[in-house]
Amino acid sequence: MSTYSAIPNDLEAFWMPFTANQQFKSNPRMLVSAENMHYKSQDGRDILDGTAGLWCVNAGHKREKIVSAIQAQVEELDYAPAFQMGHPKAFALANKLVEITPEDMNHVFFTNSGSESVETALKIAIAYQRMRGEASRTRLIGRERGYHGVNFGGISVGGIVNNRKMFGALLSGVDHLPHTHLPDLNSFSKGQPEHGLELANDLERIIKLHDASTIAAVIVEPVSGSTGVLIPPVGYLERLRALCDHYGILLIFDEVITGFGRLGTPFAADYFGVVPDIICAAKGLTNGIIPMGAVIVKDEIYTQFMTGPKDTIELFHGYTYSGNPVAAAAAIATLEVYEEDDLFLRASELAAHWQEALHSLADHPFVIDIRNIGLIGAIELEPIQEHPTKRAFSAFLRAFERGCLIRTTGDIIALSPPLIINKAQIDELVACIGDVLSELE
Ligand code: PLP
Repeated sequence: MSTYSAIPNDLEAFWMPFTANQQFKSNPRMLVSAENMHYKSQDGRDILDGTAGLWCVNAGHKREKIVSAIQAQVEELDYAPAFQMGHPKAFALANKLVEITPEDMNHVFFTNSGSESVETALKIAIAYQRMRGEASRTRLIGRERGYHGVNFGGISVGGIVNNRKMFGALLSGVDHLPHTHLPDLNSFSKGQPEHGLELANDLERIIKLHDASTIAAVIVEPVSGSTGVLIPPVGYLERLRALCDHYGILLIFDEVITGFGRLGTPFAADYFGVVPDIICAAKGLTNGIIPMGAVIVKDEIYTQFMTGPKDTIELFHGYTYSGNPVAAAAAIATLEVYEEDDLFLRASELAAHWQEALHSLADHPFVIDIRNIGLIGAIELEPIQEHPTKRAFSAFLRAFERGCLIRTTGDIIALSPPLIINKAQIDELVACIGDVLSELE
């Protein structure tokens, strides 16, 4: 059967995630194959990928090396139990991964998604505080507009109201920093916005309220993606780091979207020169091909757990698929592709062109802000009165019809193309969005 089969599919059974199911199923948008910078739609059109799938296909689609590594691994060892047994690929991957993590972050716990990386990081943080004799430090501090996946820990520290309001009582003992989106002061900023460093000082207010002795960790995305690309103001992350150090609080960077070259460095920690205690990663780890996440911790944290009796399990946590052989093989091949193609440098090589191209849209109708960093961009649109999100969603639909995949969140168009994009394709993407913006009502 051809991949482009027009045979109607029954769309009812699959309850689609983060999707308006009823709307989608009345007018579906199907992708059936992909290669390099393009998807193919079910009606045979090439769609330029402006979002690296969902912020994950950093090396572009259908990379031969990754495909072959997966095929070979399935033939050799399809699955091995993850608890009290090992297999070579998971160890090889951890070793390879720590070659590119910040100094003193040399231990990796594998998960299957960004959400699981976040849960794992939060649990490790609380357990670590207890292990070092600070058992009263159980509180977690997140941030308004933060996105840390969809599990209960993640939505508790997260700050997106729609992701929280339907799900009852969340984790107790959580507080939130204010978000850093200051459109009146920072609109049309290029790179890090100038204003907002002082918002990090709110951590001191929270500490005064609860006392540092009750706080285990602060978790932030170095650049918030899902909430519409919120870039940290100059000095902000440095300030958070200094406060966490001062008060004995762990700093967790959720690098699920910023990891693996998105800013022109392996991790955002490298880009900003601020090293957290724990990094949450996923997505680009396997180029999005096979679900896999990783939590990378400072040596001091790992070592703290390794002090008890040798025959005791140190951390009562793990997943059936932690370090899954096929995912590990995919991740090793992915890291090799990043290395061979110098893809961690690519975003900085393209950053100036990307910035100029995006900001050329500033005078288009309804554009109220444009912001960018690395190979990430956002175009914020004026919402339609009484109908927030409709204008941006209409842009998304029109872009797809014109052959470009963009992503919208609220009334913000968020862009994060594969790092293999070239300058002509950046121009094509921006021209497509320009045409779409000109048509909007
Ligand atoms: N954390 C951040 C910063 C993310 O952007 C995402 C997903 O977009 C997640 C966590 C959740 O990852 P997943 O969807 O793989 O669970």
